[in-house]
Amino acid sequence: DHRLRRIASSIRVIPEFPKPGILFQDITTLLLDPEAFRDTIDMFVERYRDKEISVVAGIEARGFIFGPPIALAIGAKFVPMRKPKKLPGEVISEEYSLEYGTDKMEMHVGAVEAGDRALVIDDLIATGGTLAAAMRLLGGFSSTDRVGAEVVECACVIELPELKGRDKLGGRPLFVLVKAV
Ligand code: 5GP
Repeated sequence: DHRLRRIASSIRVIPEFPKPGILFQDITTLLLDPEAFRDTIDMFVERYRDKEISVVAGIEARGFIFGPPIALAIGAKFVPMRKPKKLPGEVISEEYSLEYGTDKMEMHVGAVEAGDRALVIDDLIATGGTLAAAMRLLGGFSSTDRVGAEVVECACVIELPELKGRDKLGGRPLFVLVKAV
């Protein structure tokens, strides 16, 4: 697909960010190319428009860029999955481990309900810890867990396949546009 080539080439790679040894995939240059940005959204919308998705759950911060236009186009609600202490209402939260230490993800109580069909969206999957935490919050691993939504699929613009983050998603499908080394 010529669109995938344009999307892949619009992503800038920055070495040694945010620390030595990391090759950072920078999607802000994709956003500077309106055709690549539109193609990115279109490709997700084409995949999800007929899948009866009722909620798009976007992960802070870059899931907030790609999630809302997809949600609007497919007629689903958008729910932000946020860093701790950002959401003003009652929240449920989930801890997850980072390379050093832990982080937490929060979601408003009542935003997602049992029976909702969810698409989880982020810009990039590395180790998979972030998407796995979002799935635990939504109840994606077992529909009797937490809010009891069904996670139909997780989707990212970029996957770093060497880190095998896919394996952390409990067999739920992951859809990505670009695989990076
Ligand atoms: P994981 O939990 O899969 O190890 O890390 C994924 C999370 O870290 C995502 O929320 C993603 O935005 C962020 N992340 C990790 N590495 C990169 C990177 O190289 N580029 C970008 N844009 N995000 C990254």
